[in-house]
Amino acid sequence: MTANKSLLILPGDGIGPEVMGQVKRVVNWFDRRRSVTFDITEGLVGGAAYDAHGAPLSDETLADAMAADAVLFGSVGGPQYDDAPRELRPEMGLLRLRKEMDLYANLRPAIVFDALVDASTLREEVVRGLDLLIVRESTSGVYFGQPRGVETLPDGRRRAFDTQEYTDDEIRRVAALAFELARQRGNRVTSVEKANVMETGLFWREVVTELHAESYSDVGLEHMYADNCAMQLVRNPKQFDVIVTDNLFGDILSDCAAMLTGSLGMLPSATLGAADESGRRRALYEPVHGSAPDIAGQDKANPIACMLSFAMLLRYSFGMDEDALLVENAVRNVLGTGVRTDDIMSKGAARVSTSVMGDAILRELDKTAA
Ligand code: NAD
Repeated sequence: MTANKSLLILPGDGIGPEVMGQVKRVVNWFDRRRSVTFDITEGLVGGAAYDAHGAPLSDETLADAMAADAVLFGSVGGPQYDDAPRELRPEMGLLRLRKEMDLYANLRPAIVFDALVDASTLREEVVRGLDLLIVRESTSGVYFGQPRGVETLPDGRRRAFDTQEYTDDEIRRVAALAFELARQRGNRVTSVEKANVMETGLFWREVVTELHAESYSDVGLEHMYADNCAMQLVRNPKQFDVIVTDNLFGDILSDCAAMLTGSLGMLPSATLGAADESGRRRALYEPVHGSAPDIAGQDKANPIACMLSFAMLLRYSFGMDEDALLVENAVRNVLGTGVRTDDIMSKGAARVSTSVMGDAILRELDKTAA
């Protein structure tokens, strides 16, 4: 038996608990069938934590997150919390987790499964076989830079300003991670900025180039302006392997790449922190979608984004690549049989509930591992 791996599960609000319910079945399947066991702690986050403790993340749950090998997160939010004070809103639970765990790199894969090639708004030949990874710096840049604010000028006009800033170590750590991830994939990195018009862009390019020459010259490196990258993502997305970029451009480009794949219900993500001496990184895995209040409680949500987030957890936190592939292939095979939740429904397919999609994935896991 491999040593136990500790996992904190935070289902959250809305469809979070429903999709996580199916993922927990997969986690249990691994416990039963494979040579690994997970020590699982479960906690409240977002609105659920606010209702129970008056805050969207308790200090105890934060301590559990800091101690865990990995955190698996569902989704937070809902209209019933719209009037809560800003610092107590559900999403503050997630922001606090990301900040305290110093999770600086957000990983968003965009993968098109053959069975869902029609779900993309782009032509089939443009997206079939797509498999790219966007690595976005997520703790610095213009969303956090100081000073920021709105002021009134002496002539009475008002002026708003934000500060885009990066230090070399912030750029180096996220670029190093992108190079390392590329080595496990197609071995190519595209570094994206606006070096033509921004000081931070030029600096980003210099630092990435230096790091590449020092430590990663075996990995292919290309630089691209962010506006061109947006265009290339819809023109020929298959040219990319790993894209690394700053917080602002990453926010926009990752949503753009997400839509290449069709549905929010299919998109996983990971946010990683620095590795300690033993190589362990703080890490949080979550579907890209929110709590979907419009379908919550109806057993309609697609659990695949959360399942694929768990596959990322196996791969990036535990190096269990084969097991991650088991989950990904089970999903691929189930989709191949024409089983669909509402959000990815197509003509001639069988519409199923969240739990029946879970049943189908578990059956497929049983088959592939038989
Ligand atoms: P959303 O992602 O919750 O929903 C957008 C649309 O996609 C809805 O029509 C929803 O039904 C559908 N959808 C989303 N996930 C789906 C799934 N797994 N299966 C089937 N359909 C799915 O975004 P929203 O409506 O803008 O936000 C709703 C709430 O979620 C808000 O309170 C928002 O703040 C919160 N939110 C949370 C997160 C997070 O927890 N990380 C992210 C985004 C939004």
